[in-house]
Amino acid sequence: MASTKSRSKKYVYTFGAGKAEGRADMKNLLGGKGANLAEMCRIGLPVPAGFTITTECCVDYFKKGSKYPSTLRKEVEAALAKTEKAMGMKFGDPVNALLVSCRSGARKSMPGMMDTVLNVGLAPSTIPGLIKKTNNPRFVWDSYRRLIMMYADVVMEKAEGLAPAEGKGIRKIMDEMLDQFKHGKGHKSDTDMTTEDLQFLAEEFKKAIRKHLGKPFPDDPALQLWGGIAAVFKSWNGKKAVSYRRIEGIPDHWGTAVNVQSMVFGNMGDSSATGVAFTRNPATGENKFYGEWLVNAQGEDVVAGIRTPSPLNDDTKNEQNKHLASMQEVMPNTYRELDAIRTKLGKHFKDMLDIEFTIQEGTLYMLQCRVGKRTGTAALNMAMDMLKERLIDEKTAVMRLAPAQLDELLHPIVDPAAEKKATVLAKGLPAGPGGACGQIVFTAEAAVAWARDGKKVILLREETNPEDVEGMRAAIGILTARGGMTSHAALVARGWGKCCIVGAAELHVNAHARALTVKGQTFKEGDFVTLNGTRGYVYTGQIPMISASENPRFQTFMKIVDKHRTLGVRANADTPEDARVARAFGAEGIGLFRTEHMFYGEGSDAALFLLRKMILSTTVDERRKALDELMVFVKRDIKATLAAMEGLPVTIRLLDPPLHEFVPQGAEKQAELARALGIDAAAVRARGEALHENNPMLGHRGVRLGVTYPEVTEMQVRAIFEAAAEIIKAGTKCKPEIMIPVTCDVNELKDQKAIVACVHAEVCKAMDLRQIPHMVGTMIEIPRACLLADNMAQESEFFSFGTNDLTQMSFGFSRDDIGSFLPEYLGRKILAADPFQTIDQEGVGQLIQMAVQKGRKTRKDLKVGICGEQGGDPASVGFCHRTKLNYVSCSPYRVPIARLAAAQAAIGK
Ligand code: PEP
Ligand code: MG
Repeated sequence: MASTKSRSKKYVYTFGAGKAEGRADMKNLLGGKGANLAEMCRIGLPVPAGFTITTECCVDYFKKGSKYPSTLRKEVEAALAKTEKAMGMKFGDPVNALLVSCRSGARKSMPGMMDTVLNVGLAPSTIPGLIKKTNNPRFVWDSYRRLIMMYADVVMEKAEGLAPAEGKGIRKIMDEMLDQFKHGKGHKSDTDMTTEDLQFLAEEFKKAIRKHLGKPFPDDPALQLWGGIAAVFKSWNGKKAVSYRRIEGIPDHWGTAVNVQSMVFGNMGDSSATGVAFTRNPATGENKFYGEWLVNAQGEDVVAGIRTPSPLNDDTKNEQNKHLASMQEVMPNTYRELDAIRTKLGKHFKDMLDIEFTIQEGTLYMLQCRVGKRTGTAALNMAMDMLKERLIDEKTAVMRLAPAQLDELLHPIVDPAAEKKATVLAKGLPAGPGGACGQIVFTAEAAVAWARDGKKVILLREETNPEDVEGMRAAIGILTARGGMTSHAALVARGWGKCCIVGAAELHVNAHARALTVKGQTFKEGDFVTLNGTRGYVYTGQIPMISASENPRFQTFMKIVDKHRTLGVRANADTPEDARVARAFGAEGIGLFRTEHMFYGEGSDAALFLLRKMILSTTVDERRKALDELMVFVKRDIKATLAAMEGLPVTIRLLDPPLHEFVPQGAEKQAELARALGIDAAAVRARGEALHENNPMLGHRGVRLGVTYPEVTEMQVRAIFEAAAEIIKAGTKCKPEIMIPVTCDVNELKDQKAIVACVHAEVCKAMDLRQIPHMVGTMIEIPRACLLADNMAQESEFFSFGTNDLTQMSFGFSRDDIGSFLPEYLGRKILAADPFQTIDQEGVGQLIQMAVQKGRKTRKDLKVGICGEQGGDPASVGFCHRTKLNYVSCSPYRVPIARLAAAQAAIGK
């Protein structure tokens, strides 16, 4: 029952002979590959004709329970006829057969995650004609055996949902047959095989398919074509594609397009070749043509990492491939033609592209172009270069770096001084930048498991394949013995800014025995290695890392970023040291100074002792005495931080955690404290017990401490004002903002503000100042405070959303106990993302919007920020921009990310 709606849809878009129905801006419908094939046709590049079946068709295919929409067949037939005309050949024709490829192509590139079938249309009915036409029987039989291998694997096994055990798949079986055959004949490489060998193998493969898959290989061009189309659709839901989408946040409902394109052959002899290139260097960003190629090969040979490819040109030569002949040397004319295409593409698309090409008997064809994946360093360099070249404007430059890539720019590199002293264990291709030091594991599963246990692992593989994607993600570095710069491992790692070395040929990896042998040395699982992904060097053991942030280009880029953002960015910082780091990263203030942090960690013993003394006090007098002593420490730390910020605003939060967190727990520790205080150990224990709460996160914490122990608030406020007064008297500005946490009612604020006003007056008098500039505001972290934000704003000059607690209390998820169920919620897609990492815009977001609106209704100039963990998450920053917050506050290292995300939100994606 085809609906009228589906009948009116156009599912197929043709391209070829200098014309195309699609365009580059139709990526949602045609997928990235289809849209760009169309665009290349439009600008006059040599593209083999073909057609794109839309992503919408894929979605409808699944809606119909894996059935094609009824109108598709007619559309495909018409498009095929057009393709045949453009190519002067006919699909399935016994004399002049057109062969096609079926390739996937989603809106966003998912390199290697979906399936492809090549050489579709080769069958006993078309083989003789093709042999006659090409006069190259070896090529025809080689193409046929490739079709059989690929088709059986992709269409007959994977797409049918048959999931054989590791190493038992039909592809593996056929690979082994091929190896055995070659071995038996004494052939060293595939190219040594004769026509007869290939013909024999094709027949053997077909027998194996019947035996293992229980049905024959379809020797019928039309059946092959429809099987290929369905297999590409189905590969959208293949395991590796689903994993990749989850990691990259690509929605499941997008679907993939299918590109059916005339085959051209790079394996027709020595005047034929295939290659992959980048219009600029994807690792460094240098404006140099960069790529790899293979003579007499098909595209899959380059990207699958089966043969180590040769360099495209002089600029691509490195230690590992400099002995191999480049295209620039072997085919200078075709190289010049390709280089001209590179220039044309660069000017047209105004971005770095990744291209695939094939040379068939001296004629160059473009098979694909897409915006190339790049490292953070390359993204930065290219954006700045293209800005200088006037190819792009500032806004475009700002949009060219993903916020997460900045993270990578700030990532550690191997300490050059320590590296100089280390001996190189092996050299490979520098596929992903930066340094990584970790323990080697041999499988993706082990990488995931070890990383879950908090270990830093290097995933070591003979060569990676897309099934390894989860392990690659979990590892901090990737190392392979085979493969080139454009292998899937390299592409994926680069996209993630992950340290990666491929093609380190000296490594002998025995995944089975979990052993690595290099130059006579053996390493086992868990041994440490260090990678320098920028140079491609592998070292034994652990070498220290250093930060790579002092990059002048990075500073210039960030200046441009700041011109385009309206949202302020502050940092959460609790020490003068943190404050300095935050300022170096561009923080415009401190959005959260957690007072209690001065009682944790190194150097906190004396302050902690006094805090404990205060907690153990049984009378107000005792408590006051302890507080007086404690104030010296609190004031010292606050003053140092205010001074480090040199007049920028600093939001100081009053004590937040439940007091019992500070009472020592073990008997020994309690006895030690009792001795120091000169009291009974039993008294310490009893006080600890008295402070015990069943649900401390919802208990005696935050403002509730200030309400029940006003002298605690008084001491903190006095410390703040005295510190500020001393700084002001010394001639420097300072702007403390006193923040009252965990409030749910305006009367709590009134109560605490009375103390603030009183202490302010006292300190001003004592210090002979008319006033100490300051603000008093509150954290909004309880849903009731959002609902009553208009009331809260009567007493609050600013709001800061504590989205850690606000999320906890909106969801009813304990922020300390989500580990036991959240992974399952995410895995089963009950929730799309962890709401403690990225704001739940749908739910918690409504509360925030409401609070902002209500608050500003009462107080027009109400300053609003956010200081929960989500403040450094790019999507949350975008939400805060749209909700018209004044600033976000996040950890110092995420400040540049938040600045970029804020600028991108202002420019609008
Ligand atoms: C919050 O709740 O979001 C917050 C910043 O405070 P804390 O994490 O200290 O509870
Ligand atoms: Mg909180």
